[in-house]
Amino acid sequence: MLGRRYASDILIVGAGVGGLSLGLRLASKGCRVRILQQREPPPAKRPEMVQPHGLRALAELGLLGRLKAERVARVERFCFSQIQGDPLCRVDYRILDHHHPYALIALPGQTRRALLEGLRDSPTVQIHWGARFTGILRRGRQVIGATAVENGREQEFHALITVGADGSHSRLREALGLPCRIRRYPNAFLGMLVDRPAGLARSFDHQVSYYMGRGEILGIFPCAPAMLCLLYMVPADDARDMHERRLEVLKTRLAEIEPRLKDSLAVLTAPEQVSLLFPAQVRAAKWVVDGAALLGDAAHACHPHVAQGGFQAMEDAKILSEVADVCVRRGNCSARALAPYEEIRRPVVERLQRVANEYVWLWETRNPMLARLRDRIFRNVGERPELLYRVAAIEAGIASGPLTFRERLQALGVCA
Ligand SMILES: Cc1cc2nc3c(=O)[nH]c(=O)nc-3n(C[C@H](O)[C@H](O)[C@H](O)COP(=O)(O)OP(=O)(O)OC[C@H]3O[C@@H](n4cnc5c(N)ncnc54)[C@H](O)[C@@H]3O)c2cc1C
Repeated sequence: MLGRRYASDILIVGAGVGGLSLGLRLASKGCRVRILQQREPPPAKRPEMVQPHGLRALAELGLLGRLKAERVARVERFCFSQIQGDPLCRVDYRILDHHHPYALIALPGQTRRALLEGLRDSPTVQIHWGARFTGILRRGRQVIGATAVENGREQEFHALITVGADGSHSRLREALGLPCRIRRYPNAFLGMLVDRPAGLARSFDHQVSYYMGRGEILGIFPCAPAMLCLLYMVPADDARDMHERRLEVLKTRLAEIEPRLKDSLAVLTAPEQVSLLFPAQVRAAKWVVDGAALLGDAAHACHPHVAQGGFQAMEDAKILSEVADVCVRRGNCSARALAPYEEIRRPVVERLQRVANEYVWLWETRNPMLARLRDRIFRNVGERPELLYRVAAIEAGIASGPLTFRERLQALGVCA
């Protein structure tokens, strides 16, 4: 049965970091916005790192103070070392010439909460909690809105522009019939939240630690004054079995890699305390059509080794809000009018996806020769201030990668 019919300038499907940032930006321009958000399980147990340029975006929205008030952790250093071996490299954001030379690591859901706080006083934005997108409304080729099920009834949401900010499995992208390449990776991650080890609470302060082995990575992220988030890489084929049946094996291995975690790991007794995370890369063939656009992971999900998916979704929101505002005011929401958004953003995220794929290839290798080469590259980067600066700037979202041919030769140690 068809229920109510709503109208707005912009309809956003998905109240993730991208959709909420877009809502905030459009609200500041006076646009009438509706956001649809389906019911969802609690957020996954994984770190939410906001890189320096993401902090700048939050500051622009007036929300950096709110995020800091959530008692997030501040980190400046990224320390890479071999599993049960030597230190490899330390990337320190304090060398960056940036207003925010650090990253913040939030607990799951905290960044979204800060964005929602920002939207609370926006009279032109309405969020429909529990509304699940079901289909596109069209007039000829023009998308004129969407349908969604809310409180068991199908409703119509009419809008001049409909935005798919509904994540990497985007139903809106599917409904638009946009071709899309989805790349699955050979490894998945197990995410856990544990207390900081008693008596050692401060020793994990201000730094992310990566332990690199052959086909094995453990990342330790401080994410609140008393907590750590752990991300452990496992083969994707084995991940479910490890998650459901081999928790004790997992804990033993983590304690071997970082013995200081042993007591903290004791709280993990059930699979529900561990999140199973499968990274994916999304490349939608087009981000804009007549009357609709894709944003964030729906358009271009990226492997999390670069920890920039949330920030890139916020950057999309910044550009799309400018372009969409002009389209709405001129009454022209065609694909051509929306195209500048894709033209500006696509090259940036495609460069980042290339960097992320190089990290996957090099960091995750099981090949002993390649692992030795990786370690050599880390050491060479660590010893060259100009390379360290470039790597820090790419990670921070300030510069776009990948490294140039000459920088690669320097990293390999074959050129001065
Ligand atoms: C292991 C891992 C670690 C990561 N670490 C980081 C990090 O440290 N820093 C970082 O910046 N990024 C990180 N990312 C990436 C980041 O999480 C995403 O890039 C980011 O969340 C994308 O935001 P989004 O708004 O585009 O999509 P999402 O956050 O996926 O939001 C989409 C929203 O749409 C809703 N939705 C979906 N379908 C429907 C529907 N049919 N109807 C209504 N609503 C719907 C969903 O419920 C969700 O709320 C990581 C990712 C992984 C997998």
